[in-house]
Amino acid sequence: MTFHDFNLHSSLTESIDMMQYNEPTPVQAQAIPEILSGRDLIGCAQTGTGKTAAYLIPTIQHILDHPKEASQCLILAPTRELAKQIDQQIDGFGYLTGVTSMAIYGGSTGGEVWSRQRNAMENGAEILVATPGRLIAHMRMGYVQLDHIRTLILDEADKMLDMGFFEDIIQIVNELPTDRQTLLFSATMPKKIRLLADRILRDPAEVNI
Ligand code: AMP
Repeated sequence: MTFHDFNLHSSLTESIDMMQYNEPTPVQAQAIPEILSGRDLIGCAQTGTGKTAAYLIPTIQHILDHPKEASQCLILAPTRELAKQIDQQIDGFGYLTGVTSMAIYGGSTGGEVWSRQRNAMENGAEILVATPGRLIAHMRMGYVQLDHIRTLILDEADKMLDMGFFEDIIQIVNELPTDRQTLLFSATMPKKIRLLADRILRDPAEVNI
């Protein structure tokens, strides 16, 4: 199997070539067709398996199908380091596709960072990559528009629950359109992940690596 088998937009296929991804990893081979079909998905995969591109590639394909709408995809990640890494991978795909993202994380209270994050949320970035606590802080300020979100992705969901983000995640999900696609990735599948999945996913496909 090659990435060409997924019938992606040419700018996306070219980005994949440019990043020298020659063939899909196992999690990508299994998850990409399910996500392209519009289904919700639970992915049990560790870091290093290519899980980030497994959800970014089909999500960017959906964005290219619906251009020029801000904040179409929300990715929740447990830490600022992971949020930054995801944001950097989107940059790799963004060069040729034009899809933009903004990482929304805490730890920096500088007004400049805050207003850059606010500006991205108000005016344009198609993908928001956020840690839950910082996103809620922006939501409390009243300008966060989440009504265009078509795709919600939880990355390292087990770590987010270990860090005590369950209620924050539910609070964020309650602000999203119910007509959305939800993807949950986790390295482990303890019972609390199943409970979260039962609450926020609909009839998910499952991929285990
Ligand atoms: P991840 O598991 O998402 O943290 O990805 C691990 C690393 O694998 C990242 O540096 C990716 O850029 C890289 N990667 C992802 N998919 C592929 C692929 N199909 N071929 C080669 N490298 C990849």
